[in-house]
Amino acid sequence: MSVDRSTGSTDTTAPGRIVIENCAIATVDARDTEYDSGHVVVAGNRIEAVGAGPAPAGAERVVRRIDGTGHLVTPGLVNTHHHFYQWITRGLAQECDLFDWLVTLYPVWAGIDDEMCYAAAQGSAAALLRSGCTTSTDHAYVFPKDGGDILGAEIRALAELGMRFQPTRGSMDLGASRGGLPPDACVEDTDAALAATAEAIDRWHDASFDAMVRVTAAPCSPFSVTPELLRGAAELARAKGVRLHTHGAETVEEEAFCRERFGMGPTDYLESLGWLGEDVWMAHCIHMDDSDIAKFAATGTGVAHCPSSNARIAAGIARVPDMLAAGVPVGLGVDGAASNESGELGGELRNALLIARLRGGPAALTVRQALRLGTAGGAKVLGREHEIGSLEPGKLADLAMWRVDGVSHSGVVDPVAALVLGAAAPLTLLLVNGREVVEQGHLSRVDEEEIARNVSRAAARLRAK
Ligand SMILES: [Zn+2]
Repeated sequence: MSVDRSTGSTDTTAPGRIVIENCAIATVDARDTEYDSGHVVVAGNRIEAVGAGPAPAGAERVVRRIDGTGHLVTPGLVNTHHHFYQWITRGLAQECDLFDWLVTLYPVWAGIDDEMCYAAAQGSAAALLRSGCTTSTDHAYVFPKDGGDILGAEIRALAELGMRFQPTRGSMDLGASRGGLPPDACVEDTDAALAATAEAIDRWHDASFDAMVRVTAAPCSPFSVTPELLRGAAELARAKGVRLHTHGAETVEEEAFCRERFGMGPTDYLESLGWLGEDVWMAHCIHMDDSDIAKFAATGTGVAHCPSSNARIAAGIARVPDMLAAGVPVGLGVDGAASNESGELGGELRNALLIARLRGGPAALTVRQALRLGTAGGAKVLGREHEIGSLEPGKLADLAMWRVDGVSHSGVVDPVAALVLGAAAPLTLLLVNGREVVEQGHLSRVDEEEIARNVSRAAARLRAK
């Protein structure tokens, strides 16, 4: 790769341009347009041009010109489900199903604070960025009384790394003494949780096109939240114009909990509380029957599919091909790092494809469908399909440039197959909002070794509590 940093103009008010040429391009637009050898021109924080052959001549203020020979350029990946704080509780509860895993970890998580969550967010975002992810959500739902400003700490960490962020203000109010799964020490009062959610939206939510922070309301799950909190969060989110997120239909135990307590399965239960709609997405959605999938499709409710986490805790295999056939918006998620220690979204492309084929056969999911789940699909799930998720003029300049002519990938006839089916591809460049955040596989804006040390210290401090 060669880089020319000459400036093309003396006009200092117009945005600088980054020109990438000679690369394969998978735009993931509505027609799946691809170029064997093409160009992408970035102007400021927007994509200005995408097409075949070299970039149009005469562009002014070119601050960087990149020869992308041997590379595939894709939209930046979009992560639709995570729990950043779990980055400092990895490697625990290794042989547990979901409920045993949660019951083991809740008491550990009760000790988190904002300083720990800052380090955990750094570690989580580092892994995501280094695997090609440009936008991530986070589902924070443990807020100890003396935990400080946890959401603020996460937002600060991601701003420093340069990542686009959709934090959620999660919550739990159904403790064990009232029939819920979490211990009472981990839950909040219902009204306090709603007030804190409203405050987070007022403080940080940015509805603008190129927002770097969007906030979501996110009570945790049917077995840790009261119907009052679910209903109240839906009303609050709709009054303020933000999205809703929760876990749904993750395990057979959750299904049994809902049937025993509410007399219906999780999808019908959530529907009864106003929790299906275009402004809602749910994590997992594994134990869905045809009626559940039809309801998601009819209402435009989105799904965050988390194949690695689902496999680690043996929750089951989501019916993603059936959801896609029905028209359900589906994106990919790494889920929390305590159930997916790698935390890398790039690998989820491959795992989504493999796990779908284990259930549905060799044609269940194509490599291009897998890439779409991780990009445009995720953007749709987050309600940002007009802004990110594909490479098209006018959209935000969030893109990944993967090397596919190195020792692991050279000779693979199809660069998208090389990316999805092959080894994790080296990430030569990652742009978020037109800014370089990863170069040659490493974070550009922060010291990775310092993050590693911060994470170690935070994990040790939590263990000592
Ligand atoms: Zn989760």
